[in-house]
Amino acid sequence: MPLPIVRTVADLRAQVSAWKRAGERVGFVPTMGALHEGHLSLVRLARTKAQRVVASVFVNPTQFGPNEDFDAYPRDEARDARLLESAGCDLLFAPTVGEMYPRGFSTTVTVAGVSEPLDGQARPGHFQGVATVVSKLLNQAQPDVAVFGEKDYQQLQVIRRLVRDLDMPVEIVGAPTARAEDGLALSSRNAYLTPEERQTAARLNQAMREAIATLRDGGRIDAAEAAAVEALKAAGFGRIDYVEVRDAEDLSRLGPGPLGGRPARILAAAVLGRTRLIDNMAV
Ligand code: AMP
Repeated sequence: MPLPIVRTVADLRAQVSAWKRAGERVGFVPTMGALHEGHLSLVRLARTKAQRVVASVFVNPTQFGPNEDFDAYPRDEARDARLLESAGCDLLFAPTVGEMYPRGFSTTVTVAGVSEPLDGQARPGHFQGVATVVSKLLNQAQPDVAVFGEKDYQQLQVIRRLVRDLDMPVEIVGAPTARAEDGLALSSRNAYLTPEERQTAARLNQAMREAIATLRDGGRIDAAEAAAVEALKAAGFGRIDYVEVRDAEDLSRLGPGPLGGRPARILAAAVLGRTRLIDNMAV
């Protein structure tokens, strides 16, 4: 059976509240479409936590910078709907930009602190766009549980903070990063890579794993970060936005010496050709 699609907040709410009245828990997986196995793993995880799963596909213009890939971002709703249905999704919410941001729209949500370093620096305004659209989507769908990928680790921490700070009645679940066999994190943007770049792209995750090995051997954080940057340059990456080891929860700076007792995360962002890749791992 084809996946039902709703395009308005009113239709979304009508379906979700019918499910809730019937005593069913509702899970939610927001996406920008161009779905891959990583997105589908989120839907399957949501399924284990709720009787009903709603996914959204919305390429949110406010989280793209003026020179970013909003127009080029891959879009194929029919394919996305088929994949979602096969993963056990019950409903697709695919609103228009006008439904999400009607004339007169004036509110933005800013999460201080955790949204400021890393991609907050590299992509000014990005997390404000994310926090605003996720606030809207959670209010629109009113799910019991929402699943986000660790692939976008800083985004996940921003959303956790947002939901706590604004007392949103939803459980946020982080899902592990789905990877290709060579370690490259699956991403809709991998479609931009040429075959040669696709080979090189695996070096991003490899450099992070080497850094983690150094740190686990008692090496210094500054040295591990610098070695990873050098490895990426040597592999042919262009602009390297960051390779940094940070506190796993609030993303505050760690180092420069060896790891302390606090849970740490290594996060990296670098450009290969015309594609900006990000990745992160637990240290
Ligand atoms: P996007 O469509 O890129 O905005 O991503 C939608 C959701 O899927 C976000 O919660 C992402 O973190 C998650 N996601 C994207 N790629 C992956 C992946 N490789 N593994 C797990 N989750 C992912």
